[in-house]
Amino acid sequence: MQEQQDAQAQQDVRNVIVVGSGPAGYTAALYTARASLKPLVFEGAVTAGGALVQTTEVENFPGFQDGVMGPELMDNMRAQAEKFGAELIPDDIVSVDLTGDIKTVTDTAGTVHRARSVIVATGSQHRKLHLDHEDELSGRGVSYCATCDGFFFREHDIAVIGGGDTAMEEATFLSRFAKSVTIVHRRDSLRASKAMQDRAFADPKIKFAWDSEVAEIHEKDGKLGGLTLRSTTTGDLTDLPVTGLFVAIGHDPRTELVKGQLDLDDDGYLKVASPSTRTNIPGVFAAGDVVDHTYRQAITAAGTGCAAALDAERYLAALA
Ligand code: FAD
Repeated sequence: MQEQQDAQAQQDVRNVIVVGSGPAGYTAALYTARASLKPLVFEGAVTAGGALVQTTEVENFPGFQDGVMGPELMDNMRAQAEKFGAELIPDDIVSVDLTGDIKTVTDTAGTVHRARSVIVATGSQHRKLHLDHEDELSGRGVSYCATCDGFFFREHDIAVIGGGDTAMEEATFLSRFAKSVTIVHRRDSLRASKAMQDRAFADPKIKFAWDSEVAEIHEKDGKLGGLTLRSTTTGDLTDLPVTGLFVAIGHDPRTELVKGQLDLDDDGYLKVASPSTRTNIPGVFAAGDVVDHTYRQAITAAGTGCAAALDAERYLAALA
């Protein structure tokens, strides 16, 4: 009887559980499925498919010369992983214990799932302004990623919100395409490094709205119709007639689930032993934007998802 129970318990232990369903999670699922590891994938309860589900056209994912809609790209990745045997569950993982040889993850119904290896691919969340029209105009004039969307804003007047390195980088990148770029910053000096500041100051297309924050986002014909700025010193309101708004006030990696178990860097991203995807716990791997604060692209997330799958495969092979 005991032997039977032990055998059953052993059977219930999966080879690999993937937490997350963006390009990193689905790519990890595809690779581990093709390696016959029968991955169990938790896609998230409301945001299955990850960040690209929120966007419209993706023009920089290789293999789609005419571009592809974000949701369609993610549906295809999902279907491809499922075709090779990934088991996909549209639910959140609410807690994990990654410390032992057998790791456990618990879903919203309280069911505990066990595995020899876990791939964490929970992504990151860009910070928002939390203003009216922001969500509905995302992909229609409002953006959080210049590398992704800059190309769509040729000859537009654009506002970039923020005063750090990312905001300066986005602004100098966007000035290649835009008619003008106005950096809107709450204070009268920047947080960005001196080199990044100098580049922005030297760029003839870049202007600054100092001591200013966005008070209102205006919608016109389903697109961004302009902004109202508020002075942080006097409270005065002024209109800024732009058709592009890039919000560059930071990202929050989704690490709540693993905090206290996996090592994080100073910015709160998961630490891995680069160039591998190994975390500080054997058998636990991490991929995508939850690790990466440098590139943050679908293709780089997919690339590290692949690497995590191969790392997990090798880890499991060494256990056998
Ligand atoms: P994500 O795509 O963020 O996916 C993470 C997933 O994990 C989510 O589905 C979430 O539900 C799930 N998850 C989180 N926590 C849990 C949990 N506890 N349990 C279960 N599941 C969980 N990149 C490009 O290359 N080209 C573009 O054109 C482009 N456009 C973009 C447009 C927008 C509006 C945004 C926001 C991003 C864009 N990006 C683009 C960036 C790209 O989307 C990201 O770099 C990429 O999606 C990161 O992939 P990821 O798999 O690491 O994370």
